[in-house]
Amino acid sequence: MTARIIDGKAFAAGLRARLAARVPSFVEKTGRAPGLAVVLVGEDPASQVYVRSKHKATVEAGMQSFEHRLPAETSQQALLDLVAALNADDSVDGILVQLPLPPHIDDKAVLAAIDPAKDVDGFHVVNAGRLAVGEEALVPCTPLGSLMLLQDALGDLSGLHAVVIGRSNIVGKPMAQLLLQQSCTVTIAHSRTKDLPGIVRLADIVVAAVGRAEMVRGDWIKPGATVIDVGINRVPGAEPGKTKLVGDCAYDECAAVAGAITPVPGGVGPMTIACLLRNTLVAAHRRAGLSDPE
Ligand code: NDP
Repeated sequence: MTARIIDGKAFAAGLRARLAARVPSFVEKTGRAPGLAVVLVGEDPASQVYVRSKHKATVEAGMQSFEHRLPAETSQQALLDLVAALNADDSVDGILVQLPLPPHIDDKAVLAAIDPAKDVDGFHVVNAGRLAVGEEALVPCTPLGSLMLLQDALGDLSGLHAVVIGRSNIVGKPMAQLLLQQSCTVTIAHSRTKDLPGIVRLADIVVAAVGRAEMVRGDWIKPGATVIDVGINRVPGAEPGKTKLVGDCAYDECAAVAGAITPVPGGVGPMTIACLLRNTLVAAHRRAGLSDPE
């Protein structure tokens, strides 16, 4: 069997176009475009790339992008003051503080200071709690995008056994909550899990969010299973001095057994930014007292 490739890049492009198409009616009703504020502290190169692509995607969708670049030595209080100002700014619907923050800043304190109604990353404990109890929440972008790809590939997920590898607050845990909401039977695996290959072999859906290059092997996959590879790992490339990106799943091996699989790059990655725009549009509608744009 050769797996169907789940084209996250194409799906994300479609989603972004649908979101952009909804912006004009929001502008008509409220007199302003939805606004996303992105805060970057310091000069981490990967973070700079992410912030640039978030800005570009926001503008392309017809939304307002507010970028705040602060020096690495910014104090925690100065960052909290900026977050408070963005909370109070009516033109800002979404606030994203790019992680990781410099070590002298307590990221939990900063995330806790964001108004949950503007928490488009979905990392605030209020949104995590709402997701856990099934109330209206802003849901973290990477698991939300992964769920959309799964629903597009499989339709109704109810009754399927999903194994989520990874239990981080930003991917693994919210992914498991979303799959549970869809009535999957959910197993969450992590670094202490015994017989991981044996557990993954039971899965109709495998979501790998580990951060270990090509850890999940082809003989772990049940024939026909759907594999969502969240991992992004930079490894040495074929040519000396060159690097390439690989996922947490050994792609060729897994694709030979799975029914469908996301590639890396071009799978889950593009969905993360598309879902950030989706959350910004949703937050803008909710803040304006309008019904959700879906
Ligand atoms: P974390 O490092 O926060 O979490 C990794 C998880 O994997 C932990 O729960 C850890 O278990 C588990 N783990 C580590 N080693 C093993 C192992 N040998 N067997 C089983 N489980 C293991 O990572 P994130 O959740 O933030 O990210 C995961 C991956 O997803 C990374 O590659 C990251 O780059 C990528 N990512 C991709 C995004 C995208 O847009 N596509 C967005 C966000 C992340 P334990 O809790 O026991 O330590």
